[in-house]
Amino acid sequence: MKDKINRRTFNSNLIKGLGGLTLAASVPYACSSAINQKKLGVALVGLGTYSTHLLAPALQQTKHCQLTAIVTGTPEKAEKWSKQYEIPKSDIYNYENFDEIANNPSVDVVYVVLPNAMHADFSIRAAKAGKHVICEKPMAVSVEECEAIIAACETAGVKLGVGYRLHSEPHTQEIKRLVANEVFGKPHFVSAEAAYLSVGNWDQWRFNKDLSGGGALMNMGVYAIQGALYAVGENPIAVTAQEFSTAPDKFKDTDETITAQLEFPGGAVANIFTSHNARADRLYASCEKGWFELDVAYTYGPLHGRTSNGNEISYPHFIQQALQMDDFALHILEGRPNKVPGEMGLRDMKIVKAIYQSIEQRKRIQIDLG
Ligand code: NAD
Repeated sequence: MKDKINRRTFNSNLIKGLGGLTLAASVPYACSSAINQKKLGVALVGLGTYSTHLLAPALQQTKHCQLTAIVTGTPEKAEKWSKQYEIPKSDIYNYENFDEIANNPSVDVVYVVLPNAMHADFSIRAAKAGKHVICEKPMAVSVEECEAIIAACETAGVKLGVGYRLHSEPHTQEIKRLVANEVFGKPHFVSAEAAYLSVGNWDQWRFNKDLSGGGALMNMGVYAIQGALYAVGENPIAVTAQEFSTAPDKFKDTDETITAQLEFPGGAVANIFTSHNARADRLYASCEKGWFELDVAYTYGPLHGRTSNGNEISYPHFIQQALQMDDFALHILEGRPNKVPGEMGLRDMKIVKAIYQSIEQRKRIQIDLG
């Protein structure tokens, strides 16, 4: 833990974070007792696209976290980030000497932002170093790896969160509220579509199964699964899934397009669609007494939605990753609920596994979430 947040820096960050708007009342925990607490130091592990363009900028807007260390295999990146974010050489690690982070008191949280197949190794090493862990989605590439991360964090007595940023995002919170309060009655049918059109670099790790664990389903598919589950408000009990490819010459090693029908105990069904070769970003729920939708539903924002009673679902935009990291910090600092526990990442990996099984075995698979 490093700097104290005083009221002046808090207000300054608040105003900057809102793009100059003074909307203190719309910002969650604006009156938090954590105002007087210290900021948690965060180490980013892996300085790729997400760390560079989303997480590091978000850490300039967080109220309860700050970037204090980096872990990278590329000396040029270390040099650049050191200058840009004023990170001393003593707080820069590579993948080999990473475990020495255990001796660094300026790091409280290690945020793993590496290719999926490296999540488990670095999350477990971070836990063994006595640091709290945020692990990017998908949490790992197998159920067993997710369980190993959870066990390592429990053994070390550190907190664990998955990088599911939407659980701190207001439009998504509103969907969860509509569902919990049955504002439109029980959901009957949900459609959750999360996909993007891949262009350019076909050598990237996302198309290499050893590094990604799978294709679109592991990448965007987990968003569709998440959307389906919070729109229904239940966990699924069975799935029937199908795989398609419109460009088999390109998608040789990983799945391009998957659809899956999730069945829920209350009788609802959700169709999920995910792809690396199509554009889709929507969550729609038809319920007993009406419907609601987010369109767009999973991007970095702003999201937007509407309901059958003519209402718009629309909130001021704030950087989702800043909200996410601050929520996790408040879980550590104040014992607030963990919105994105490791068990959620494990649950989703069990659903991913069942979907792949259904495709392989060409049959309906019962989902046992234990
Ligand atoms: P990226 O390819 O841009 O960056 C990956 C980083 O890992 C690079 O810095 C690379 O140098 C490093 N790396 C270390 N060993 C590597 C290896 N053997 N092969 C390839 N790269 C290696 O990827 P990204 O888009 O930053 O994604 C990183 C993680 O973040 C993934 O798990 C991804 O699913 C997740 N992600 C999450 C979100 C979100 O919205 N929550 C968005 C984007 C990415």
